[in-house]
Amino acid sequence: MTYDIAVIGAGVIGCAVARKAGREGARVVVLDRDEQPRSASWAAAGMLAPHAESDSSGEFLSLLLRARAGFPTFVESLAAETSVPIAYRADGLLLLALNEADEADLDERFAWQAAAGLEVVRLTGSEARTIEPAITREVHSALLFPGDHQVENRQLHAALRQSAALAGGEFRLGEAVTGIQAGSEVLRVEMGSGSHLAAKVVVLAAGSWSGEIAGLPRPLPVTPVHGQLLAIDSAEPFLRHIIATPRGYLVPRSGGRAIVGATSERVGFREGTTLAGLRQLASIALEISPSLEGRPVAAHWGGFRPGTPDDLPILGADPDVPSLIYATGHYRNGILLAPITGEIIGGLAVGGQTDADLFPYRPDRFREPDSAELSEESGGLT
Ligand SMILES: Cc1cc2nc3c(=O)[nH]c(=O)nc-3n(C[C@H](O)[C@H](O)[C@H](O)COP(=O)(O)OP(=O)(O)OC[C@H]3O[C@@H](n4cnc5c(N)ncnc54)[C@H](O)[C@@H]3O)c2cc1C
Repeated sequence: MTYDIAVIGAGVIGCAVARKAGREGARVVVLDRDEQPRSASWAAAGMLAPHAESDSSGEFLSLLLRARAGFPTFVESLAAETSVPIAYRADGLLLLALNEADEADLDERFAWQAAAGLEVVRLTGSEARTIEPAITREVHSALLFPGDHQVENRQLHAALRQSAALAGGEFRLGEAVTGIQAGSEVLRVEMGSGSHLAAKVVVLAAGSWSGEIAGLPRPLPVTPVHGQLLAIDSAEPFLRHIIATPRGYLVPRSGGRAIVGATSERVGFREGTTLAGLRQLASIALEISPSLEGRPVAAHWGGFRPGTPDDLPILGADPDVPSLIYATGHYRNGILLAPITGEIIGGLAVGGQTDADLFPYRPDRFREPDSAELSEESGGLT
């Protein structure tokens, strides 16, 4: 039996692509080496925050803004289809300046975002404390991004998976893909179990591990960027907005829980959490809200952001093997970009074309990555 589409990876990206393709009538199989795919899609903080994440306007910011604009409707349609409740919050994000360097950062951000016509509000320190009384008295000033929202990413992932299955997607979990071989009509997908399957189109959505599949027509410079997060609990909700500084963030979740993030570590596939990570996260949380000192740490975990040399995702068909399509490298914005990636890449996989301009994300844009580039840290919060 030949599948229309085989999707490698059941994170948010693979599930979103499978959902779209299944709904378009394609016969889809989704392969993931984990029985319970958790990876980056499970680990993330769930911010939908183009304003806080971007350092300049341009094509990528437009994509992030489009993704964000479509999110509420997308969540509504998932909620209607599946039994998974999805917490989506549209309370906005407050970026604090706590010292002069932060103020300079905020000035610059305000200037380019206001010039680009984005919705951003400048607040004094006392105005910021009026809308969020739990933040530090040390706040000099703040920017409010009313449009930056958040979603409970684990719920989103579960709903996407259920929706993809309802659309006919077959999930083969615990099945690691080891290689791909392009034939004249179909692609052969080889698995660690020794078995293989045939598909007319393969979508590679294996997150940080995407470059490790044998037989790819070109090197795929996707590298893991480890991020650690903490959850802290409180008896009552103490924040309404996401609160960020240039060093990290607190994301309020339901009840009195808040997620503190994040470290950004280029340590290969070293898993797990560290004391250094715990110290960094504690300092981010206490800098934002010193009154959190006595709060219990409910959880501490990590995950791998799929990074690329230019921090942009890799989207579109391989120029030499057009039936191999990439949907990977979403780095810090994969939760935000999951629905729009599903729409574009799912559509491309079924119909062979898309109206979306994928030129900035084309898979053949990389030179051989040089090691200095790969070790350089880039800005952003998530
Ligand atoms: C700490 C942290 C905070 C983040 N915060 C945010 C945020 O606030 N907002 C936001 O938008 N994004 C955020 N991100 C980024 C976001 O989580 C990722 O960009 C997104 O989850 C990537 O999804 P994915 O499906 O491509 O990858 P993953 O979720 O990593 O899924 C890839 C899947 O592929 C499977 N796989 C790998 N190799 C194989 C193989 N050989 N065969 C079969 N299966 C395979 C894996 O098991 C995995 O299930 C954050 C990430 C981290 C780590």
